[in-house]
Amino acid sequence: MFTSLSLRNSRCITPEQQKSFDELLEAYCATPEGEWLKNFNYKQYKIKWCDAMNIENGIMGAFIPWAGKAVYLMPNECNVPGFPDPWPEQIVFTLVHELRHAWQFKKYGILYILCCLPVLRQLTLEKDAWRITKQAEKFFTEYVNKRCAAKFKRK
Ligand SMILES: [Zn+2]
Repeated sequence: MFTSLSLRNSRCITPEQQKSFDELLEAYCATPEGEWLKNFNYKQYKIKWCDAMNIENGIMGAFIPWAGKAVYLMPNECNVPGFPDPWPEQIVFTLVHELRHAWQFKKYGILYILCCLPVLRQLTLEKDAWRITKQAEKFFTEYVNKRCAAKFKRK
């Protein structure tokens, strides 16, 4: 079962994975939809892999205000050593979703905590975070496809 205690055993991401995320987030920050992230000091949030998140329990990411400046993501289950890791491209919109929660907490403070009550949460925090996530998902899909097509052309 996943609880916030499961976050304790999270792992740091590798420098290569950090580089991939940095590149993706920078591209997103340069768009009008990513304006909020550009103005938010998101680099102070560490990205961590939480092994208790998986396809089975459906938990792909988390931001917990009292767990410090970190966001947690579901790790890739099948890394092929020696090949570029495609996972950051796949999970990046979840990262944006969790960073949006971090942004909400910074902006609203105590109000954020109050809004964590189940029903209220869906109407406030999640509604806003999913609006942002959907836009980000569209952006990253196009961005990754374009980059992939460009690489293919060069071969
Ligand atoms: Zn959420």
